[in-house]
Order: sequence, then structure tokens, then C-alpha cells
Amino acid sequence: MRLERVELRRLRLPLVAPFRAATGAQADRDLLLVRVTTDLGEGWGECAALGEPTYTSEYTEGVRHVIRAHLLPRLLGRELRGADEVAEALRSIRGHPMAKACLEMAFLDAELRARGESLARHLGAVRPTVECGAAVGLQDSVDHLLEACARALEAGYRRLKLKIEPGRELETVRAVRECFGPVPLQVDANGAYELEDLDRLARLDEFDLLMIEQPLAEDDLRGHAELARRLRTPICLDESITSPRMAAAAIAAGACSIINLKAGRVGGYLEARRIHDLCRAQGVPVWVGGMLETGLGRAANLALAALPGCTLPGDLSAPDRYLARDLVDPLPMQDGRLPVPTQAGVGVSVHEEAVRELTVDLEVVAPERPMLRRP
Ligand code: MG
Repeated sequence: MRLERVELRRLRLPLVAPFRAATGAQADRDLLLVRVTTDLGEGWGECAALGEPTYTSEYTEGVRHVIRAHLLPRLLGRELRGADEVAEALRSIRGHPMAKACLEMAFLDAELRARGESLARHLGAVRPTVECGAAVGLQDSVDHLLEACARALEAGYRRLKLKIEPGRELETVRAVRECFGPVPLQVDANGAYELEDLDRLARLDEFDLLMIEQPLAEDDLRGHAELARRLRTPICLDESITSPRMAAAAIAAGACSIINLKAGRVGGYLEARRIHDLCRAQGVPVWVGGMLETGLGRAANLALAALPGCTLPGDLSAPDRYLARDLVDPLPMQDGRLPVPTQAGVGVSVHEEAVRELTVDLEVVAPERPMLRRP
């Protein structure tokens, strides 16, 4: 498999409404999309990074630079056995998992399309559909919070996840419990708390939450282990889990009993599957998180979420819940479930016209043409 040409497209997708978490707000989706042309055919990759380095250190413009200046020179014109050699070819570059994941996804799409195999099948999916949960961002009032939750439940979502921030978590969770009763409910703090907030977090125990996600900073495994010993609510880690080694360390330390898996955060779908396998072997349930993906990225998320160890509903809402426009046909949610794509490759057809209309910057990189840039 040989990479011959790459399009790096920066898109701006309008959101239905701004999305706010403890780590920052998104007014629109500033997205990097890559299209690779290989000797086997074409493939698309979607980058999970957001426009600003507030949630993770990677961000759209930085990812584009890393791909262009450091990753593509290690891939262009090189013979690879397949997409499973992309990570190895990029290993000398430290970090930048979202940049690497995006390229690996495009290689996987091209290779699997050429072979007539779906990503879901390639990863080892065992389910035709997956249960969907909805993540509700921070709201400026309890009324708006309850409205957002009501909309998600009316649309059929199977569980709610509330973003929380220090000082407002009890009010937030109590309001939703009182209004909606025993709906499956969990919270995500995006690392906004300190271990000193233990007593405050312990008060969440009375609300029978499925889990509290990433209460402390991403590098605080010891703090999470201490919290896990003191809370009845299970701890789930998201930002902390950056590799199979970190997943193993977190589980061994007792820092979490559930893991939120995101392919972008760990360097790609193949690495994500390794973490899934490790968790499954240790009996740790996994679910798949979302990063405001388009239908393209969501299709790949669904393939991962259909693995046997993904036993909890993920943050996999249909993209029309948050994107005013998408790049693929709407994913049909039925009874709170989305179908796992079965077509070859990632499994959805990208509408090139929509991609063109939403592109704000395009670069083409090929060995004989180092860079062609046009607006
Ligand atoms: Mg999270």
C-alpha cells in the first residue's frame, strides 16, 4: 500500500447550538478532514481535535501542521503492508495521537474499501446496532438544562450524560433526577475537580449515577484511586487513558472501574481495539465517547462501539443532534439505537459537494508537488 496524494481540508461546520463543558465552549466545529489517495484507492479520515487546545493539547491548526510537516514525509511514497503499519511508520514522532489517528483512519478506509470489508468487521464487531446516549453540555440555567434533557429523551436516547462543574453539580443532578426520575444518568467533570472536593463529590452518591467521568486532572491516577475508594459512584476515566499501558496502570491502581474509549485520544482505531481487548480481559466495561463528529467520524465510532466489551451506551448521538449540516446521509436512529455501518471501509459515502461547500482551506500534498494551497 503506497500513499500518493493527500488533501488536508479544514472545514467549519455550524452547530445547532454552542456546546459548553468545564474545559471550554465550541461555537462551531472547526474540523480537519483528510482524503488520501493510495495505489489501492481513496480513503477519508476525520480528526477528533477541536479548534482550540482547551480539551486536549491538540487542536485543528496544530494537527494540520504536524500532519503536513512531520507525519506525511514519513508516509508519502513509502510501501506499507497495510494500514496496520501506519502507527509504526509514525512512531518516531512523539505524541499527537489525534493527528496520527486521523491518517490511520484514512488508510484503513482506503484499504478496507479496496478489500470490500467493513471497518466494523475488521475490528471484530459483534452487534448490528449500538445503544446511544446523549451528552448534555453546561447550560446557563436549570430550565435550559431540563429542556435539553427532555429533548434528548424524547428523541429516544437511552441514557443522559451531564457535564458538571465545581459548585453547580448537586443542583444540576438533583434537578434532572427530580424531573426525570430513574433515567440512566451519569456525569462528566472533564478533570475540573481536586481531591479536596471529595466531600462534595461524595454527595453525588445519593443520586444513583451510573458513573462519574474524569473528576480529577488527567495525570492524577493516585487521586482517582483515592476517590474510587471513598465514593460509591463508579469512576470512569476518559482523558487519562492515552494508551494500553495507561489503561492497564489505571485499572491496576484502582483508579477506575469503567473506561471511556476514544480512538483519537489513543492514536487510532487499532490502538483503541487493543485497549478494548485489555479491558475486556480484566472485566472492565468500556463505552465509546464522542468528539462532535460528523457522520463520517460517527460511523467509525459505531464500528468500535459494536465490539463485545463495549457494554455501556456511548456518547454516540446522531450528528444531527448537534451539527446543523453533515457530510453524509443522516444516520437513522431507531428506538435509541444506531445501526453499525456494514459497507466496505468506514461504511458511509461522503457527500463531496457538502465537503467542498464547508471547506475554508484546502492543501494538497503529493511527492511531486510538495504543496498546492488554495482558499
Ligand atoms: Mg469525557
